[in-house]
Amino acid sequence: MTKITVAKGDGIGPEIMDATLEIILAAGAKLEIDEIEVGEKVYLAGNTSGIANESWDTIRKNKIFLKAPITTPQGGGYKSLNVTTRKFLGLYSNVRPCKSLHPFVKTKHPIMDIVIVRENEEDLYAGIEHQQTDEVVQCLKLISRPGCEKIVRYAFEYAKQQNRKKVTCFTKDNIMKQTDGLFHQVFDEIAKEYPEIENEHWIIDIGAAKMADTPEVFDVIVMPNLYGDVLSDVAAQITGSVGLAGSANIGEECSMFEAIHGSAPRRAGQNVANPSGLLQGAIMMLNHIGETAVAEKVQNAWLKTLEDGIHTYDIFKEGTSKQKVGTKEFAKAVIANLGKKPTILKSVTYKNDAALNLPKYKRKPSAKKDLVGVDLFVHWNGTDPNELAAKVKEIESGGITLSMITNRGIKVWPDGFKETFCTDHWRCRFKPNEGVEINKSNIIELLKNALNENIDTIKTENLYSFDGKAGYSLGQGQ
Ligand code: NAD
Repeated sequence: MTKITVAKGDGIGPEIMDATLEIILAAGAKLEIDEIEVGEKVYLAGNTSGIANESWDTIRKNKIFLKAPITTPQGGGYKSLNVTTRKFLGLYSNVRPCKSLHPFVKTKHPIMDIVIVRENEEDLYAGIEHQQTDEVVQCLKLISRPGCEKIVRYAFEYAKQQNRKKVTCFTKDNIMKQTDGLFHQVFDEIAKEYPEIENEHWIIDIGAAKMADTPEVFDVIVMPNLYGDVLSDVAAQITGSVGLAGSANIGEECSMFEAIHGSAPRRAGQNVANPSGLLQGAIMMLNHIGETAVAEKVQNAWLKTLEDGIHTYDIFKEGTSKQKVGTKEFAKAVIANLGKKPTILKSVTYKNDAALNLPKYKRKPSAKKDLVGVDLFVHWNGTDPNELAAKVKEIESGGITLSMITNRGIKVWPDGFKETFCTDHWRCRFKPNEGVEINKSNIIELLKNALNENIDTIKTENLYSFDGKAGYSLGQGQ
């Protein structure tokens, strides 16, 4: 018996959860269920996180969480429960298998079978945002070595376990050389440990285009959080319907399983929703906890039901479909098919699909870190960079001098183009002259001088080298 936490969520959530539980329990899943309330009711009762503290206790105690979609109320102040859950519980890996069900579900990609492994905790989703000037806001993109190592290793271990042949990495490291560059570098390092699995890297833009056009050339694709968020929806949609895909959010201790779609409030309470997405999440959960035989039985019965043409409205199509059914009737049909296998669609055989046991991240020895300069970000309403340079040069001291000014990353001084559009947000880079060293006191001195000169510094960013290698990007055009 495995104790799991279940949240029925909002909108169509309760209907699809009831259907899912009915199917997996009928198939013999040995589960003890602890139900908690999350979502709209909790939000509207004044809890901006959408979940009560006691519910966290239940989730953390049981470790396995099956969650129906929830509605995040419109308007400010409500935190996304999904993002909070993933981060609080350290669910670093989001796994979404996207497979076509041709010819029973209409798709332009009949032989598609890919798995998106999305990093789930960092990247732009750290949500660290600031307005710095009248015209400019920023969002910090944080990528860490542990974050990259954990997700890339997960992708390779998953590929190995599932007998998949290739892992592809998508990044935009031609532009983001530090952040996406680290992700790509870690991918190359870890790929070497898996010589039996093919590996490749694509720049995300052309990779995404290729995936949407010719998904059959991909197998497992691993990527940072934001790209994964977008592309896993694209991948699910082009199999025929987002309503058919489930996802697993895996951490070192806890895991959460769900459908990828939302709470579809307009369809709620009408017994029309397709429970398949949540059922797919539940099947991933059964595999995860070692209930392999039950997972296999349910998946084959589900495939057989789709093959029989018993379809909910969202995938119903005259000609291919035989019977349009509601949520409850679909569940009954799957239960009636338990023990049967599909004949046209490929049946599944699950062997050893239990939770992956990955080694804990080991911190590397620290590099030799040297301060080599500083970027002062300045709010200035002028337009001529030469004028700003003259003003900023007034604060130089101790052999630390202005080396460059950029505006939104592009170099505008020295030798800028008058055509370059400039905002009120300027980065002034200071470097020590030849033979001079810089320390933090120099930075304080620069800031003090800026204050005296009425220069509005909005933030500083220290420039470091790590083992002699620059840990910062050049200005564009530098
Ligand atoms: P949605 O996924 O709820 O609905 C999009 C469309 O797909 C709708 O037309 C809906 O009718 C259809 N659809 C979705 N699931 C279906 C199913 N199982 N069967 C049949 N049709 C289905 O997306 P939305 O309308 O943008 O969001 C509605 C709410 O869901 C919002 O409050 C949003 O914040 C929330 N949401 C929650 C989650 C989650 O909890 N994991 C994920 C996404 C959105």
